[in-house]
Amino acid sequence: MSRRPSFLALGVPHAVAAPAPGLYVVATPIGHLGDITLRALEILAGVDLILAEDTRHSRRLLDHYGITTHVGAYHEHNGERARPALLARLAEGQSLALISDAGTPLISDPGYKLVVEAKAMGASVFPAPGASALLAGLVAAGLPTDRFLFEGFLPARSEARRTRLNALAAIEATLVFYEAPQRLGSSLADMAAELGARPASVARELTKMHETVRSGPLDELASYYGDGEVKGEIVVVVAPPPERAAVGADVVRGELEALLATHTTKDAAAVIAARHGLPRRDVYARALELARGKAP
Ligand code: SAM
Repeated sequence: MSRRPSFLALGVPHAVAAPAPGLYVVATPIGHLGDITLRALEILAGVDLILAEDTRHSRRLLDHYGITTHVGAYHEHNGERARPALLARLAEGQSLALISDAGTPLISDPGYKLVVEAKAMGASVFPAPGASALLAGLVAAGLPTDRFLFEGFLPARSEARRTRLNALAAIEATLVFYEAPQRLGSSLADMAAELGARPASVARELTKMHETVRSGPLDELASYYGDGEVKGEIVVVVAPPPERAAVGADVVRGELEALLATHTTKDAAAVIAARHGLPRRDVYARALELARGKAP
């Protein structure tokens, strides 16, 4: 018996046409079931197969919208094994929709290799955009949105986390992180240590019943969340570094000369570059000239 694709919008059935062959990367809600697009529902109702990270989890969303399409598993543990058969289906002209447990697939979620290999074999890949926690967290933070860097999850161990944060410290953009609740307090403390007391925001359970967005300097957020047990899903957003006053060449020269008496050229350059927010490569070149006695 052939399936008659349809979905329910506001309880009313809508019949849909079969989508064009290809791989559809479909965003689903990050909490509130209403945050799905009509096009996403049409695609999910019409494709030959939906690929979900956790089929039981996604079944709840699909049942809510009366979508009866067959659902298969695609996650980080079976991706390697599953891809050849999925690519063969695409080669036959079938349509597949990739979804994740929440938000946009491939964003800290599986799917990247499938998209790469589908494109390499000439299949069409269609995005069906929608919810993503990173954008929801960013727009609720009240921090600059003109330029941002999405970092995803930081390393779980503090030492590696601080190294990574140190590498991000000079980036002139708002930083967006995903974080696990059990690591929130220690992560915020590491952020405060490496990034300074910048304005920041912790967004929990966005679009859900217990949604909260708490804003403040990183050190205050670290003490607030360091004390108690936190639950739920979390996005941390951190403001860009404060603008620094332009520093004169003579100041850089004087400070470099003083440091070169006790530091290697490389270390002296790193200290001065970090102190004034200058490109390390430029300061190093200047330090080399000074060390060789060539600087004017
Ligand atoms: N692909 C998803 C997206 O587009 O947002 C992200 C998947 S990643 C495995 C899950 C992480 O996203 C969570 O640990 C949390 O940091 C963040 N997240 C997901 N849903 C959220 C929500 N409702 N509120 C706050 N953060 C959320």
